[in-house]
Amino acid sequence: MMAPSSCAPRRGGSGLDSAGACPFLLPPMHPPADALLAWYDRHARSLPWRGSRDPYRIWVSEVMLQQTTVAAVGPRYARFLARFPDAAALARAEWAELAEEWAGLGYYARARHLHRAARAIAAEGMPRNAAGWRALPGIGPYTAAAIAAIAHGEAVVPVDGNVERVMARLFAVEAPLPGARRALAELASGFAAQPAMRARPGDFAQALFDLGATLCTPRAPACALCPWREDCRGRAKGIAATLPRRTPKPARGALHGVHFALAAPDGRLLLERRPEGGLLGGMLGLPGTPWRPTPWEEAEALAHAPMAGVNWRPLPGTARHILTHRELHLRLYAATAARLPPRAEALAPREAARALPAAMRKLLRLLGPQVGFTGA
Ligand code: SF4
Repeated sequence: MMAPSSCAPRRGGSGLDSAGACPFLLPPMHPPADALLAWYDRHARSLPWRGSRDPYRIWVSEVMLQQTTVAAVGPRYARFLARFPDAAALARAEWAELAEEWAGLGYYARARHLHRAARAIAAEGMPRNAAGWRALPGIGPYTAAAIAAIAHGEAVVPVDGNVERVMARLFAVEAPLPGARRALAELASGFAAQPAMRARPGDFAQALFDLGATLCTPRAPACALCPWREDCRGRAKGIAATLPRRTPKPARGALHGVHFALAAPDGRLLLERRPEGGLLGGMLGLPGTPWRPTPWEEAEALAHAPMAGVNWRPLPGTARHILTHRELHLRLYAATAARLPPRAEALAPREAARALPAAMRKLLRLLGPQVGFTGA
C-alpha cells in the first residue's frame, strides 16, 4: 500500500497532524545522529558527573537534577557522594542523615525514593537496564532511560523537558504539551534506528541535554550554531522559538499555615518531624497547623501551638514558598519558655538553618532580629 504523500517528510513541513503524530505510514525523517555527536565531541559541557559510567553516580546526579539547576547541584553532588559513596552506604544510612544532607535541595520526596531504592538495590542488586531501573521506587521513564543509556549503553533516549523542546522544534510539532508528550517521546526514540546513535547511546543522550541547555534554549535558540540547523523544520518555518506550545496551566493554589517558634532560654528552637506522606514529609520543621487553602484565624491557629500558657506573639511578614504546584503562605508566632517539652528535638537557629528545608528557612528569616538570625 502506498503511503499518502501528505505525510511524507518535506523540508519545511513536519508531516505531523495537529496531535503531533504522523497519521500515515512514513515516519518523519530524523536528522543525522552523527552530526550531533560530532558537535558534542567539540562542545560537551564539563560537569561533575560526566565521564563516569557508574550507575549509582549517574542515578544520584539525575535525581538531584530533577527540578534543580546544574549550578545548584554541582557542589551538593560532590558532598553527597563523599558522605554516601555507593548504594550500600546510602542503604545503611538512617533517613535523618539523608534528610539532613538533602536539606535545601527541595522536592524531598526524591530523597525518600532514593533511600528506598538504595535499600532495594542492597537487597536485590543493581539493575542492568532501563526496565530494571524503572521498577525501583521513584524512578520514572526519563531517569531509567538516562541511567541505562549512560551507564549500560542501552540504545534508549531519555526524554525530559529539554529533549521535548528540541524534538518539538526539529519536527515542528505545534500540538501543545502535555498532550504532545507521547508523540515527542516517539520522535526521540526514532533516533535509535541510526547506527551512530546505537554506537554511543550515552553520549547521544548527553549531547541532546547539552543541545537543549546551550543552543536550543527556551527563549532564543542559537540556530546558527546548531549542528541540525539545516534539518530543523521549526527553524525553516520560522516558529522554533515559539515551540513547544503548552496548554495553559490552571492557577497555582495557595496553602496557608501558621507555625510556632518556641525558644528555650539558651536560644534553641523546638522542632518536629513532619508527618510522612504529606508535603515536606519526614523533614524537620517548626511545629504548626496543617496547610490548607483558607487562611487561619488567630484563635484556631493557636489551638495547634506546641505549648499553652506562654506569650505567643505574631511576627510581621509572611514566608512565601513554591512547592510543586502549590504556593505556601506561612505566618509565624514566637514565644520563649523556661524549658522545652521533654525529649523534644531542638536546635539553635543557625544549626536549624542548615537542617531545615527551604520553606522553613524562610520562616526562620522572619525571626531574624529576635534571635540574631539573619538568614541562611
Ligand atoms: S536549529 Fe535551532 S530550533 Fe532547531 S534544533 Fe537547532 S537550535 Fe533548536
